[in-house]
Amino acid sequence: MNLDATIARLRSKHDRYVSELAEALRIPSIATLPEHAQDMQRMADWLARQMATMGLDNVAIMPTSRNPVVYGDWLRAPGKPTVLVYGHYDVQPADPLDEWHSPPFEPRIEDEYIYARGASDMKGQIFAQLKAVEAALAEDACPINLKYLIEGDEEIGSPSLEDFILANRELLQCDVVLNCDTGIHAPHRPSITYALRGLAYFEFEVTVPDHDLHSGSFGGSIRNPIHVVCDLIAGMHDGNGRIMLPGFYDAVRPLDDEERAQLREAPYSDADWLALTGAPALYGEAGFTTLERVGARPSLSVNGVWGGFQGEGAKTVLPARAGAKISLRLVPDQKPAEAARQLRAYLEQNAPPECHWELRTHSLGPGAVMSRKSPYMQAAVKALETVFGRKPFFRREGASVPVVGMIKELLDVDSIMLGFALPDDGIHGPNERQSLPVLFKGMEAYIHFLAALDTIERAG
Ligand SMILES: [Zn+2]
Repeated sequence: MNLDATIARLRSKHDRYVSELAEALRIPSIATLPEHAQDMQRMADWLARQMATMGLDNVAIMPTSRNPVVYGDWLRAPGKPTVLVYGHYDVQPADPLDEWHSPPFEPRIEDEYIYARGASDMKGQIFAQLKAVEAALAEDACPINLKYLIEGDEEIGSPSLEDFILANRELLQCDVVLNCDTGIHAPHRPSITYALRGLAYFEFEVTVPDHDLHSGSFGGSIRNPIHVVCDLIAGMHDGNGRIMLPGFYDAVRPLDDEERAQLREAPYSDADWLALTGAPALYGEAGFTTLERVGARPSLSVNGVWGGFQGEGAKTVLPARAGAKISLRLVPDQKPAEAARQLRAYLEQNAPPECHWELRTHSLGPGAVMSRKSPYMQAAVKALETVFGRKPFFRREGASVPVVGMIKELLDVDSIMLGFALPDDGIHGPNERQSLPVLFKGMEAYIHFLAALDTIERAG
């Protein structure tokens, strides 16, 4: 492909691109608020128009049970790899509004940042990818095949995506996914996330009497459900921070020495972690570093506990019920449904017979780990290195991006996470922003990524 001409074209359009991005940021496409239904449609229309104008084929706004998916493709490179670009055009609500220094849907530029809801998560990212391809197409220099899946429900948990993918498996077939909903470590320090933890969320409730009782008249004669909940929670870890659900670690993929060495290249110190958290000391599973604990090892967190009297002063109640919300962060190759069975087995083995208990599942999402050695990953590494002048370091992310695991499960392809948000962009919070110099570097990185894919021989 004609790399130099493509990049020169892109650089010449800087101001036009900024004003186009601002157009997208003015549309309050908040998926969760019904009063923005029209804005969701406007945003989908805006994207579809962009995609058609830049020369993609088969651009379509495809209905789902919630907000539509915007699809488009460019399949004119026979024999070359097909990349499915994933993104979302919905944004988080903007409140608290009074904490914004300027209105969230009136983009403002200050110190080379553009401030607006969705600037970083993720209209900026998807815009950068589209502009890279637009420049390549204008130079007649797109070396690979592309498909786009831009959903409108990500910030509400992608409730429509699984059905959409299942119904359009053929259409979405690809060699790899480019997931742009991500970022790098710092403006001069690129990084690539290659693993994500899954999330399984539960709630359990313990009942003893069938109504609240006087703790004087009845205390000491029956189980107290709060005590039972506390005992159950206490038994979920041993003294070394290991999770005690039966069989919990059986499927955990171990780290080899090479991967551990790579993870140590991250610019990280335990002192930073203490400063980030404000905790007086770190604590976690023995035998692992902090980054390994959050990236490569599973964790069990109690997210809430309830029961009994919470008001001011004293009330002598022996409550009828108590409960807890529990989330498991899972790593490959743990299966969320298996983890649910393990939690149930733990409760069966450990809940005392003098109570009733009930376990409810809120969500089950798998984790994912991508090959660091695949030609696609190597293409991303090379692209970042070329543009930022420095080899990216590999990182495992403790949080979950459910769509990556979902796509792996449904389409059996890896995702390459390549996006240009920064950790201090304030996504989901007030004054969300995107660094424009980083975003323009990102456009160039996307072009280098395409160019590097040109050399890949498709396997089969
Ligand atoms: Zn996002």
